[in-house]
Amino acid sequence: MEKRELVILGAGPAGLTAALYARRAGLEALVVERGLPGGQIRITDEIENWPGLIHSSGLDLADSFRKHAEHFKAEFMSADIKELKVEGGRKIIVTSNGEVEALAVIIATGAAFKKLGCPGEQEFIGSGVSYCAVCDAAFFVDETVAVVGGGNTAVEEAMYLCRFAKKVYIIHRRDQFRADRLACERAARCEKLTPVWDSAVESIEGQGLVERVRLRNVKTNEVSSLDVAGVFVFVGVAPHVDYLKAGLLQQRPGGWIVAGGHLETSVPGIFAAGDVRDTPLRQVVTAAADGAVAAMSAYHYIESGGQSLELERK
Ligand SMILES: Cc1cc2nc3c(=O)[nH]c(=O)nc-3n(C[C@H](O)[C@H](O)[C@H](O)COP(=O)(O)OP(=O)(O)OC[C@H]3O[C@@H](n4cnc5c(N)ncnc54)[C@H](O)[C@@H]3O)c2cc1C
Repeated sequence: MEKRELVILGAGPAGLTAALYARRAGLEALVVERGLPGGQIRITDEIENWPGLIHSSGLDLADSFRKHAEHFKAEFMSADIKELKVEGGRKIIVTSNGEVEALAVIIATGAAFKKLGCPGEQEFIGSGVSYCAVCDAAFFVDETVAVVGGGNTAVEEAMYLCRFAKKVYIIHRRDQFRADRLACERAARCEKLTPVWDSAVESIEGQGLVERVRLRNVKTNEVSSLDVAGVFVFVGVAPHVDYLKAGLLQQRPGGWIVAGGHLETSVPGIFAAGDVRDTPLRQVVTAAADGAVAAMSAYHYIESGGQSLELERK
């Protein structure tokens, strides 16, 4: 079986930054990625919150991350990760390209937003359809936008959008939000926010950019439409953790991986970085920062001959 000091699962901003830091620290680092390196930002038109770059396309930023990791001679394997297992303390990554054993592993397989699955959604991603208010609200100053969803994230992101947009519809399948009471009370006080109850999005329409959403009332079946420049979808987000057997690592409901201050998981020598972990903010900058911390933690773990960093601190 092939062996490496460090295997990094996923080549998004977290995995690529981890690779860069690991290589600069002199570790043998292998990055396993099933798609093209870059992660979610590859599908983002514009990034305006990566410090030092006022504006970049997601693709350009992703490519610069990849080139930077390659510059320090990170090794890449194009493969689907099928399983991460621990056998008598040995960490084994089972991939579509064979098995690799590692002294330390960084899990950086990211997350994906749940989709509505309606016509127009895929077509308008980056042209009015968004899954992140922090990322895209600033493109909708004085516009009318719609938020889809009724949980805490939907209500909180709608409130955030109210700082930019002139009007925010919040479209929900039920006749009340699922968000907690505090969020609902704040939403009720916000004059810019208008709930659209009992409604599901049938389609998102426009010429090149989003212009309207077509809705169906789930109780009456009545069809209507709203003129909007943006549609923000918050119907859930899920981490990419299918390859983790239940019970291997501590995870929160929904699958989010729990990691301590050094980003070590409940298994010594396995670290988690970026969107895949239980974290309050999922952005490029936080994913990259996590990648750096996880790589240096992996370095110290390997150098110490396998001492758990989280236990050491206690
Ligand atoms: C449309 C959109 C717009 C966004 N806009 C912004 C923005 O403007 N600013 C900002 O800061 N953030 C933005 N984000 C969020 C940002 O992209 C993420 O926070 C960031 O990419 C997370 O990085 P990551 O490395 O943790 O995970 P990801 O970027 O999700 O990368 C994970 C990688 O792991 C790979 N992977 C997953 N499972 C497997 C497997 N089983 N086998 C092999 N490989 C696997 C994936 O292919 C992927 O390449 C946006 C996200 C989206 C979707």
